[in-house]
Amino acid sequence: MISEIQNRSQSPAWQRRYASAFTRLDELLRYLRLNPSDFVDPPDPHQAFPVRVPRDYAARIEKGNPRDPLLLQILPLRLENVLNSTYSPDPTGDQVAMVTPGLLKKYRSRALLVATGACAIHCRYCFRREYPYQEASAAVSNWPEILQTITADTELEEIILSGGDPLSLSDERLSTIITQLAAVPRIKRIRIHTRLPVVIPARVTPALLDMLSRAGKNIVLVTHINHAHEIDTDVVKAMRELQRAGVILLNQSVLLKQVNDSVKALIELSEHLLDCGISPYYLHQLDRIQGAAHFEVADAVATNLVREMRNRCAGYMVPRLVREMPGLKTKVPVELLRSEPGNIPPA
Ligand SMILES: *Cc1c(COP(=O)(O)O)cnc(C)c1O
Ligand code: SF4
Repeated sequence: MISEIQNRSQSPAWQRRYASAFTRLDELLRYLRLNPSDFVDPPDPHQAFPVRVPRDYAARIEKGNPRDPLLLQILPLRLENVLNSTYSPDPTGDQVAMVTPGLLKKYRSRALLVATGACAIHCRYCFRREYPYQEASAAVSNWPEILQTITADTELEEIILSGGDPLSLSDERLSTIITQLAAVPRIKRIRIHTRLPVVIPARVTPALLDMLSRAGKNIVLVTHINHAHEIDTDVVKAMRELQRAGVILLNQSVLLKQVNDSVKALIELSEHLLDCGISPYYLHQLDRIQGAAHFEVADAVATNLVREMRNRCAGYMVPRLVREMPGLKTKVPVELLRSEPGNIPPA
């Protein structure tokens, strides 16, 4: 008991920030100087996927603005309860792709490890919002089996740590996972999909930087940033530190109605990403998860947005517009979906 208390008082700054996130809608709205009556679609404090917003992130939301693009990403709405028949609890076919509890393999050379179910922030459009996270702890209980599966699979070259947010794990736990994965000779790259360095930049600790720089394999970190306002000076600093540690930085965004569905917002985002040393990688069409339909942008609109970006920007500033389709062996460029059906890569 005593050691537990000591541990808590010695917990790193990022863990204290993680723990102090807003988890109550009324407190969050008061902090943002907003009232429920300020919204056209009223927020709902009783959603099954609870509110969770770290204070670092809340500080970047404009006070008194019910249409702020960061706010819209985390605000629970009554609209989430509207059932839509083309939306499902598992739109990406994750359950089918589970090779052993905690490990998904959809694509030939890479597998995805559900390292944890926990996230620092709850994004309303999240495709894993209905994920059976009880099984996520499988990454701990089923670890020997997972490592055995990875070692035995002769196609695998890359392991993707995902979740949840894998950087929710302690540096010690992450270090164990990464060291053991890096020890598999066939694994050339370890990829981390995370929103934590953005929502809590203090997560980029010296211990994390040290561990990543010594991993002995290429480390690719894919941030998840949807809007330029998510990037403040602390985020730039954290990303530059990761870059100095030899980490390859990419970003994936989700195209979200009223958040980033304009050429201006998307170009600003790419510019701010480059300030951080991050290359725009994917712009995802929304996964059709139940409760997120109000965020959807039509494929025709999305295609035009990206085409216009291409007209105005250097090629490396334009992300690939893709949709994930269950059963297909790659993410699918939306442009192909809009032309001949025969263009879709075979399953
Ligand atoms: C997106 C995804 C990947 C990675 O795909 P890339 O095209 O390499 O970025 C791997 N596994 C799963 C299950 C995914 O959803
Ligand atoms: S998995 Fe990613 S998108 Fe989903 S809630 Fe967590 S941080 Fe947000």
